[in-house]
Amino acid sequence: MNKPKMTTEKGNSRVLMFLGQLERLNGEAMLADAEIARQITAKILHLIQTQEKTRKEIMSKGSGGMEVGDRDPLTFYSNITLLDYVSLPVPGGGRRVGVLVSKGGTGILLQMLLSASKEWPPSEELMLQLHSVLAKVGPKDRKFGVKARLNGALNVTVNLLKQNLQNPKLLLPCLQVLRVYSSNSVNAVSLGKNGLVELMFKIIGPFSKKNTSLLKVALDTLGALLKSKTNARRAVDRAHVPVLLYIYQDWHRNDTRHRHMLIRKGILGCLKNITNIKLGRRAFLDADGMRILYNTSTECLPVRTLDPLINTSSLIMRKCFPKNRLPLPTIKSVFHHQLPHIPAGGPVAQLYSQPPGVDDVVDESDDNEDAEAENDTENEEDKDLHNDDIETDISKLRPRETPSRPFEELKIYERFFLELSEDFQPVPWTWTPSTSPGAKMAAVTTPKAQHTRGRSWSGICCRSLNSRQHRQPPRLTGVVCPRRGGVGEESPVEEGAEEDGDEGAVLEVPDTALLLPLHDPDLYVEMVKSTRSVPQYSQVAYPDYFGHVAPTFREHILERVYGVQRTKIFQDIERLIHPNDILDKVVYDLDIQSSPVVDDGESLKFNSQFESGNLRKAIQVRRYEYDLVLNSDINSNHYHQWFYFEVSGMCVGAPYRFNIINCEKSNSQFNYGMQVLMYSVQEAIGGRPRWVRTGADICYYKNHFSRSSIAAGGQKGKSYYTMTFSMTFNHKDDVCYFAYHYPYTYSTLKMHLQKLEALRTPQVYLRQDILCETLGGNGCPLLTITAMPESTSNDQICQFRNRPLVFLSARVHPGETNASWVMKGTLEFLMGTSPLAQSLREAYIFKIVPMLNPDGVVNGNHRCSLSGEDLNRQWQSPSPELHPTIYHTKSLLQYLTAIQRAPLVFCDYHGHSRKKNVFMYGCSLKETVWQTNISATSCDLHEDLGYRTLPKILSQIAPAFSMASCSFVVERSKEATARVVVWREMGVQRSYTMESTLCGCDQGKYKGLQIGTRELEEMGAQFCVALLRLKRLTCPLELRNHAHLLDVESDFIETRCKVTSPSTYVLEDEEHSFMEEVDYSAESGDELEHEPDVADTHDNHLSDSESNSQRDALT
Ligand SMILES: [Zn+2]
Repeated sequence: MNKPKMTTEKGNSRVLMFLGQLERLNGEAMLADAEIARQITAKILHLIQTQEKTRKEIMSKGSGGMEVGDRDPLTFYSNITLLDYVSLPVPGGGRRVGVLVSKGGTGILLQMLLSASKEWPPSEELMLQLHSVLAKVGPKDRKFGVKARLNGALNVTVNLLKQNLQNPKLLLPCLQVLRVYSSNSVNAVSLGKNGLVELMFKIIGPFSKKNTSLLKVALDTLGALLKSKTNARRAVDRAHVPVLLYIYQDWHRNDTRHRHMLIRKGILGCLKNITNIKLGRRAFLDADGMRILYNTSTECLPVRTLDPLINTSSLIMRKCFPKNRLPLPTIKSVFHHQLPHIPAGGPVAQLYSQPPGVDDVVDESDDNEDAEAENDTENEEDKDLHNDDIETDISKLRPRETPSRPFEELKIYERFFLELSEDFQPVPWTWTPSTSPGAKMAAVTTPKAQHTRGRSWSGICCRSLNSRQHRQPPRLTGVVCPRRGGVGEESPVEEGAEEDGDEGAVLEVPDTALLLPLHDPDLYVEMVKSTRSVPQYSQVAYPDYFGHVAPTFREHILERVYGVQRTKIFQDIERLIHPNDILDKVVYDLDIQSSPVVDDGESLKFNSQFESGNLRKAIQVRRYEYDLVLNSDINSNHYHQWFYFEVSGMCVGAPYRFNIINCEKSNSQFNYGMQVLMYSVQEAIGGRPRWVRTGADICYYKNHFSRSSIAAGGQKGKSYYTMTFSMTFNHKDDVCYFAYHYPYTYSTLKMHLQKLEALRTPQVYLRQDILCETLGGNGCPLLTITAMPESTSNDQICQFRNRPLVFLSARVHPGETNASWVMKGTLEFLMGTSPLAQSLREAYIFKIVPMLNPDGVVNGNHRCSLSGEDLNRQWQSPSPELHPTIYHTKSLLQYLTAIQRAPLVFCDYHGHSRKKNVFMYGCSLKETVWQTNISATSCDLHEDLGYRTLPKILSQIAPAFSMASCSFVVERSKEATARVVVWREMGVQRSYTMESTLCGCDQGKYKGLQIGTRELEEMGAQFCVALLRLKRLTCPLELRNHAHLLDVESDFIETRCKVTSPSTYVLEDEEHSFMEEVDYSAESGDELEHEPDVADTHDNHLSDSESNSQRDALT
């Protein structure tokens, strides 16, 4: 091992020696002596090459991928091409090129080049040598492009090229150097001006077995040049787009053995960059580019090694696919709710101030496409963004000292804390729990907003539940018909005619009483009647009526099928190529007053006019394919991801494809094994009332729909994403429901709360209050749960009143239904009869707001409340009018703080759409500081490590919980969330967001499985158990007995070591942003543009920004 190393070092020192000679040569202005210079450069080149030859020998064994073999006529130069491998480490070897670069060799060589160019005629040998060396050095020198420009070397090479177009010997090294020059964006513009684009078009051409390496480098250079918009425009103006397409087809036809994949890819690379500008896309379409790339790609499909071609083609086609607006009159929500006042700023104000008609015009301007046109690099951008997102202002990381509100103002909240003054003495049982959530026991109400009906609602749903007529068992007549599902209601008008008789078969309601102690269909219908929705829904969805019994079988995370996304995208592209195959038949439309009732047996029937339903439009595209459009959150023009709708009229066994075409997030767990949920009424009647994970060929990708920049809130126009799944139905005459996640309506919550009340034992102290009324006129329930005192003795009463508080909330984000299922688990456990539950009640007083956003839930929103705002961004200064539930929940906490009873634990339950497992976000000053570079002062910061205890316990007892996914960093973008505000303003050290995956787990007992309601409910129960352990730990006397948990500190220190890695803190939105544990499967190279391509490795070194390079080069 030692010997080669020694020779290498010797070689390195010789490189330095020669470099020194060159420098002297330059310095002594012995410019004329070209022969000496040539000799020295030749020696350097030789040294580099001998190193490379060794490398070549190593590489050539078992390397079939090296095209430029000895059979090539340009044997000598193809050896040089091999030097591109210079970046690969040689076992035990040094890097002479690296040495050359680090000792300033680039500059010396460039100066040599300049000097030599002044000779006339220039020495061809010397030029050849210099370019050969520069071609090796360039890719290793990050500042090469800038140095070359500053030294005035660009034109030397260009001129040399111009004079030697017929001289392949010189051409190749020149092109190799130019390829490196061009990767600098400033150089690209300047080189374009000097005619390099045109020159490249002279070199590239149709299929030929000659000079392929030359061609490859020319294509790479051209590709780099075309990244500049000016150059791209130049190429379009000179009609080069059809030329490129022609050349591509020619290579495609003739390269039958696929030996020149890289050349074909190079041509596509040029097309890819040209089509970054609008003009280029138009030229591409005019030149029939779609059909050409579609056909060639289809022919490439059977050959797996051609995947990079298919992927790049697919990327270009998607980019050039004409952008469409969504097939809607406006992207504003179809429903409107008049707010008491419009907030001064923010998204709602923006929405209201938009002139009508412009809100969804596709932005026609050029150049805003860069960000969206390709390279889904959003993840990386997010990362940067999030690095900047860490709170660095220490004052914001310290608890706020001064109380935010005068106590007088908070005193009215005393009524929600009767237990703190309860003495059970005079009339021990006088308190009456308010069993009806409609009862306004708590008078804290807010000005009620006016209801305005959405314009499409004048006809269909005229019978609201307010007309509480006779209750009937739900009926199905012959065919199971969705519309007739209006439980407790008469059939809607349009279908009433032939239904008047009572001949309809009474629907057998599955008997689930034993399995679902909290469910009661009749009670559910009762609850629905008092639920107020903006569209005034009158129907009840069967799944909510029947209830859901979690299946006992396992539902695995789906393995992604190779090529599925590509297939789907190609089917989409076929719409453009074979427009006559497209039906474009609207079968469901909320925007049109009497949505067409299509019942010709040819189409599916859709419906979502029930609580939490969300489907705006359904368009039959092909016989078995439907495009579905979701409604935006009320008073908003976006936030769609949640869906819940009904389908009927299906053909058994037919291969249906559903596309939800206006999803918004840039990625989704649907790409990583998550399935949609389906509920079959036939299955339910057959004794299996349940949601099951279903759907095949699921994927999620950017589509050709977009919206204007104005509608997107002043940002660039934004593309939409398609979530697609395939489905075959098993039952004739079925009614099936599809949902994003297990639905959990507000009426379901009310039903569960009533049933819990009924299950209450005398040991349980349970009080249900209505905290306030929402904008939509729904009550926001507040629960108090603890144990009744054992007796009315002073001691007992005192213990009762002084129990520490635990404050829980959930479902601020309506689309995160999993949060409600976790909350159900918590509530059921708390009300249970187990000794653990009793101990827990004796240990704490629980204050629970199980649904912070009832209106959002009722109306099928994904993210917001009726005010069109994300309520979990309003905690800093919630408005009593616009955000009543947040305002009053915060007030409760402020009241507690004011009376020195701030909760021991605060936790807000959420759902996470982009990560697996269950995990927590907490707040730690130290961990935040450690993530930043303000370390100097951090050592003196005092912080109790108690915030880690609860998640640590959870990771030990709850199988779905993952400590590794937890984060305790405070982000700026989260400063108005419940977690951060409660931590900072109320000084609650254990203030958390608990996130449950929508998908499944990749660790623990449930590894590889999708999550179901059973696991979610279990999580809620385990949270309670963890609180009990926490109690024991926080009780000083018992500390000693739990030494096993007290390794928290050392555990923490371990983690501390880790935190230097940027990946340890999880700066995900409470909800969602970047970070994926799973990568796209290989095919998604079409998104990420990281196809492995050995010849391109040098590009990686050249991507630094111009400004940096400039600065560095000058210093
Ligand atoms: Zn959330």
